[in-house]
Amino acid sequence: MQDKYIDETKQGEAFAIAEKPANSKKLFLESYGCQMNFSDSEIVASILNEQGYNTTLKPEEADLILLNTCSIREKAEQTVRMRLSQFKNLKKERPNLTVGVLGCMAERLKTKFLEEEQLVDLVVGPDAYRDLPNLLKETDDGRDAINVILSKEETYADINPVRLGGNGVTAFVTITRGCDNMCTFCVVPFTRGRERSRDPHSIIEECKGLWNSGYKEITLLGQNVDSYLWYGGGAKKDFKNATEMQKLTAVSFAKLLEMVAVAVPEMRIRFSTSNPHDMTTEVFKVMAEHANICKYIHLPVQSGSNTMLEKMNRQHTREEYLSLISKAKELVPDISFSQDMIIGFCGETEEDHQLTLSLMREVEYDYGYMFAYSERPGTPAHKKMEDDIPADVKQRRLAEVIALQGELSRKRMEGYVGRSHEILIEGTSRKNENQWKGRNSQNAVCVFDKQVGQKLGDMVSVFVYGNTQGTLLGTQATSAVV
Ligand code: SF4
Repeated sequence: MQDKYIDETKQGEAFAIAEKPANSKKLFLESYGCQMNFSDSEIVASILNEQGYNTTLKPEEADLILLNTCSIREKAEQTVRMRLSQFKNLKKERPNLTVGVLGCMAERLKTKFLEEEQLVDLVVGPDAYRDLPNLLKETDDGRDAINVILSKEETYADINPVRLGGNGVTAFVTITRGCDNMCTFCVVPFTRGRERSRDPHSIIEECKGLWNSGYKEITLLGQNVDSYLWYGGGAKKDFKNATEMQKLTAVSFAKLLEMVAVAVPEMRIRFSTSNPHDMTTEVFKVMAEHANICKYIHLPVQSGSNTMLEKMNRQHTREEYLSLISKAKELVPDISFSQDMIIGFCGETEEDHQLTLSLMREVEYDYGYMFAYSERPGTPAHKKMEDDIPADVKQRRLAEVIALQGELSRKRMEGYVGRSHEILIEGTSRKNENQWKGRNSQNAVCVFDKQVGQKLGDMVSVFVYGNTQGTLLGTQATSAVV
């Protein structure tokens, strides 16, 4: 996972949760970056809700202000520093106000954050949220507090996330934490630690709980869902040897996907983010066998050039990636893909750039997340490679990649026109309050007129008669609910 959901220029999002009448303290919690961070904020809100904190959307009302930070690019960190500076006056007026930073930037900077940002009292890494109650005792006594220890075990499996914001219809369920792939440009292995998979039974329980609370779609979430692997069903003594234990009890990602599809048969299921190096055709077979698993994969590739893929340590070639794509298209009819691309990585030639464009034409992605390479301190690329592509060349190449993706997106959207799609109603269209918005199985957004009696979470059949570059335009038959 690199940057599926990140718009590092945008101020973070704060959400409020159901109040606990007995709670007397107020928490202002703002999240930045990828979906993993937003899901972690739901864990933090749950832990602090048990410690007497209700959330508020107004920082001026808060006893505790927490920013869950992102470190994916320099710009993301600048945005957090800018936001912190906006609390300077509040802190002056109310010295007992505690200001803390969580997430990847906290983990990357550690004590430096306390040194560089005077108003910060608390620094907590992604694996230390359980320690928040203790750390807050220290800050309440006027001391700075920090815990940035990364864990090999922590999955917060037993903590019931408090759903922050959202539409009450779609939710994210974390299945892995951390990442063992050492892509040379990426900070994640340093800010989120070693990979660990969550107990499948706790995942199934969470999915069933969400279905019973009215959710209609879940996304199984991880930096790299394909390397999900959990085993430990039986006690060691029950098995002749470790291999037998593994064989008998190992739950791979394909197996987990199947278990979830069977456990909540009417729930729509998505997953993100996939990694070409760890993805197996077993996943495609399970997708084809279960109608409730959406026919869409976010499959970052980062570059179309083998030279760049090697320098990025992506552990796969262009050819291996393309054969995975064609295998998926063969086994899962109507499947769609989206991508992540890094433009202007160290040493990228014009020929490498052309290979990226040609790979995009071959796959025909529905959409993608494309960014110019931003050197991250502490990564292998930062230590061993020169960020030698001039900014204007990076921007020109990025513009070409974005323009091509625009063409491909429009072509893909046109491919959905002239037939009906099952759409999950997720909300009201931003542009027209008389229209619903939702997505088809391929994750394409569709807008269509509302009908009396319909509500969020209804699955409706919509005939698509037109499209824009990124949106399908649809119409419903009179009794469209499926
Ligand atoms: S190291 Fe690679 S696979 Fe892991 S999170 Fe970063 S980009 Fe994704």
